[in-house]
This record gives sequence, C-alpha cells and structure tokens, in this order.
Amino acid sequence: MGLKELKKLADTLDDSGKQELIFFLQSRTKCVSSSVRAIDEIQEQKHKDGLVCPHCQTHAVVRFGKYVVKTRAGEVKRQRYRCKSCRQTFNDLTNTPLQRTRRPHLWVRFIEFMIEGYSLRKCAEELLGEVTHVTLFYWRHKILAALKQMPTEAFQGIVEMDETYFLYSEKGKRKIIERKPRKRGGKAIYRGISKDQVCVLVARDRQKMTYSGVLGGGRIQTTKLDEAIGGHLSDSNVLCTDAWRAFSSYANAKGLAHYRFKSDGKQRVKGVYHIQNVNSYHSRLKKWMDRFNGVATKYLQHYLAWFRYIDSKEYENTASNKKNMLVKSCLFAVTDTNEKLRLATYFC
Ligand SMILES: [Zn+2]
Repeated sequence: MGLKELKKLADTLDDSGKQELIFFLQSRTKCVSSSVRAIDEIQEQKHKDGLVCPHCQTHAVVRFGKYVVKTRAGEVKRQRYRCKSCRQTFNDLTNTPLQRTRRPHLWVRFIEFMIEGYSLRKCAEELLGEVTHVTLFYWRHKILAALKQMPTEAFQGIVEMDETYFLYSEKGKRKIIERKPRKRGGKAIYRGISKDQVCVLVARDRQKMTYSGVLGGGRIQTTKLDEAIGGHLSDSNVLCTDAWRAFSSYANAKGLAHYRFKSDGKQRVKGVYHIQNVNSYHSRLKKWMDRFNGVATKYLQHYLAWFRYIDSKEYENTASNKKNMLVKSCLFAVTDTNEKLRLATYFC
C-alpha cells in the first residue's frame, strides 16, 4: 500500500482513532531516533580509551570502510574496523547483545519493557508481533549476560549479609529424567535446607553497593563464601549477618568485626548494626521473582543481575535510564549465541 492510500485510509478514522494513530507514529519515530543515539553512545563509551580489537585486545586498529544496516529509518551506514594484529574485522556492536541485530530500533523498546518487568508474551504483543517471544527470550538473556558482568565495587563500612534459597529448577528443559517435574515453582521435596534448594547470597553495604550471587545447592559453605565476596571485603568492614554458623567462622577467619542477629522474623537492632536492609532486599527480590513462576536455576544468576540493576538507583523508567541500560549492557563482552544460551547447564 502506498502512502497516498494510507493517508486516505487514515482519513476514514474517527477522531479518537486518528489520535491513536498519531501516538503510534510518534512512538515509532521516537524509538528510531533513540536507537540511533544509543548506538552512537555505545560507540563513544566502548572506545573511550581508544579503539581496541574485541578479538585480541590490541590497539592496532584501523578504520576499514562502512557497512550498511537496514533500519526502520532507512539505510544507515556504520563504521567497520580491522585489527592490524589479528587481521579480523569488527564493528561497534561486535560481541555485544546487539551483534548482528536487524532491529536495533526494537531493542530500545524492549529495554523499556524489561525495566517495566513485562512478560515475554506481553513484550511480543507490544512489539506488534515483529519479534516472537522465543526470540525475545534470547534478547533478554543476552542483555542479562552483560548486566551480570557489572562489577561489585569494594564494600565500605558496615556490610549486611544474608542468604536466601530458591528451589532448584530445570524449567524449560524438555525431558527431566531424575525426578518428577514440579508444577509452577512448587514445593521442595525435602524438609529444611537440602540440595533441592539453591543458596543465594546477598551482601549490601550502606551505600547500597550490592553483591548477589548463586552459591550452589544446599547450605552455605565457608569456602564458597570467600570465593563469592572475599574480594570485596577488607578488614575495615563490619559484618552483620544472621546467626548461621558459617558466617561466624568466616568472620573469625577473616578477622572481621561481626554482629549476629536471629532471623526469627522479629526485627532486631544493635544501634546502627542490623540486617534489615538486606532482609528487605530479599523480600523485594522474592516478590519480583514471583512474576516468572519459577526460573530455571541455570538462569538464576541472570535474574539476580537483572533485579540488582532495576533495584539500584538506575531503575526508574526514564528515557535516559533506558538508553543507559542498553549502552551499559553493550560495554561487556557477550559471546553467548542463542544456541549456547539454550544448551547452558547449571552453573554457579
Ligand atoms: Zn585483533
């Protein structure tokens, strides 16, 4: 259909229909221009220390012509580079979640939906079926594979630390051989903490610097604890934890000042020392996770990274935050292909 016929057709709409059409077109042109801006910013931030080859990390890089990308706004020319050392070519989106995408304009909207926490089906609907929810599943996990790499800086002062548990899940796997599948999250087979439960550790200082990581099946072990957060702690930190023994022996071994609190649901405080911030982080996390009806354990770390991101000060759904989330996730190397994501096994 040509533009002329389209205009004629638009003219047959009533006033509210026309208004809706205006909003639709506005949203479309806005996301095209914001995707162009986002990609420009990815280019600037990625190369802030000069051009680096994503394949061999050397600086001996030259510009190597342009290539054409078809976008909704028409054809866009983008820079290609070549490494003089390994002779491979690359562009600004190589090894980013946006690598080889033909729909950069839709990613900006998709990020918006991720911040809102829409289901994949709802996202597909909002994108008017231009991308299936299956493809969006991979988009989601490519973004999360990047966010997962956002570093936790060294903790300052008081550090609240507590563990929480998620049921081990093989959701999405076609054949579950070892045990009967649970429906929609379900209940643990064993009472108490067992291998059936996956331990997630959250540590948070008062500046809200947060570590959240999957530690593995069953109860916390002191060695795992050190692997997870040892690098973020120094002897100037004061640990506040629940009464679990592993925390005490860990604090002793590290020579850290340590306050323990019973986790019996009653709020306990010793002056400025308490674990209320980390406990409320846990409950926000659990509540937010409910929307997914249980996630596969192999992706649990991705979801923890997602929540950590939206729970930080950057979560508000503003235009600049949306762009930032996309730009940031393109600053980490993501080489996960759809195939690799699908076949990933339990990792932690
Ligand atoms: Zn190279």
